[in-house]
Amino acid sequence: MREPAPTGNDSSGFDFEIVPETDQSFENALAKARSGERLSVDDGVELITTGTERAEIDPVRKEQVLEAADRRRAAVVGEDVTFVANLNNNVTTACNTGCLFCNFKDTAHQFEADYDGEHAGFTKTPAESRAIVEDALDMGIYEVTSVSGLHPAFALDAEHREILAAHEDPASTVDYKPPEAYETDPGTYVEQLRAMSVGGVHLHSMTPEEAQHARRGTEWSYEDVYRTLRSAGLDSAPGTAAEILVEEVREVICPGKISTDEWVAAIEGAVDAGLDVTSTMMYGHVENEAHRVHHLKVLRDLQDRTGAITEFVPLSFVHENTPLFERGVVAGGATDAEDELLVAVARLFLDNVENVQSSWVKYGNAKGLKLLNCGANDFMGTILSEEITTRAGGSYGEFRSFSEYVEMVSAIGRRPVERSTDYRTRRPIDVDAAVHGPRLGPRADGSPLLDRPGGERTGPAYADD
Ligand code: SF4
Repeated sequence: MREPAPTGNDSSGFDFEIVPETDQSFENALAKARSGERLSVDDGVELITTGTERAEIDPVRKEQVLEAADRRRAAVVGEDVTFVANLNNNVTTACNTGCLFCNFKDTAHQFEADYDGEHAGFTKTPAESRAIVEDALDMGIYEVTSVSGLHPAFALDAEHREILAAHEDPASTVDYKPPEAYETDPGTYVEQLRAMSVGGVHLHSMTPEEAQHARRGTEWSYEDVYRTLRSAGLDSAPGTAAEILVEEVREVICPGKISTDEWVAAIEGAVDAGLDVTSTMMYGHVENEAHRVHHLKVLRDLQDRTGAITEFVPLSFVHENTPLFERGVVAGGATDAEDELLVAVARLFLDNVENVQSSWVKYGNAKGLKLLNCGANDFMGTILSEEITTRAGGSYGEFRSFSEYVEMVSAIGRRPVERSTDYRTRRPIDVDAAVHGPRLGPRADGSPLLDRPGGERTGPAYADD
């Protein structure tokens, strides 16, 4: 029987219009999934609930869904498990947006020069960001991912700063204060990207929410903003800040964030500017299973129009230390069964997205590996720093070495493959080699990331730099 959902309409008390009810049957939906026919939202809801006529997840039906997804995965991408050598360099935790699921933010006034209290946040200057990326490049990374809080001093460039400063009462109308007001000047987005785009590294940054921040108070299009960012060195954009792309859920968990339509417009702007994009879903909070499938439909439609989504990344809500949990709005995150079904239904529903990721940061090693048998084929990246998950209470460490990847992926009978951010370059790993390290990064030579010849590193290097 289906485990009681800790979230959603029944237990949360939210009066949502979208609920997991359909006219479809589980059996019909499963038959369509097995045959490869495109699934409707109702099909997806039947599969993700293992039948809406039952209140709990049916373990036998769940295995049928997981098996169908695993077969689809094998048919679409084979037995390779990919991962990328990457670094997270998040620039600042200053943010006034107040999303209730997020602990990766510190109210921005704490960062002001005259604030005399304590806070655990940070802001990096462009020079500091460059030094961190340079160092990680020497260690062999291919990609730097950078996602930050919406610091009020952040603007696209000098022109944007002038426009923002000219607004009446810019702090309250366009969330802008000049950099002089802060202890550390984050520079502009263009300056930060230029600083991090060094030595041929792949720069993956500027979520739709950040792109909106980089155009706030102007009439600029998302495409124009992303073109400017691309000129500054941006290579691809992360489809994070998506959370659940259904308005009635966003109004509860992130009322200060852009709408679903804006999120989609931003991604299309990034694509029009010539960038690849990724896609995500953060689930397991107040939403129900029907919201999850509606979200997948938004992504599938977007991919039908653009073809530029390189992967889907499910992000199971890490509830500890978040306002949603501390205020008693949610009692916890998704169950194991919900995680498995989410990955499986994503694989089956997103028939136009090739890669589905299992995140060891969100799920831990054991479940992360299990999800590779539920439809996922990518096992994320080495992540030399992971401030976001650590600060929200995640406890799965901050770094995954190539040796660990080889060991874990081989243990489930699959082939470990180093990849580029866009998956177009793939390097199967020689599992019998004496040492395992990255080779795709501009300065990678096959040495282990944290144990370069002559190097002295023995542990995670950049946590909370
Ligand atoms: S999720 Fe992003 S926008 Fe929302 S509070 Fe956290 S850092 Fe700010």
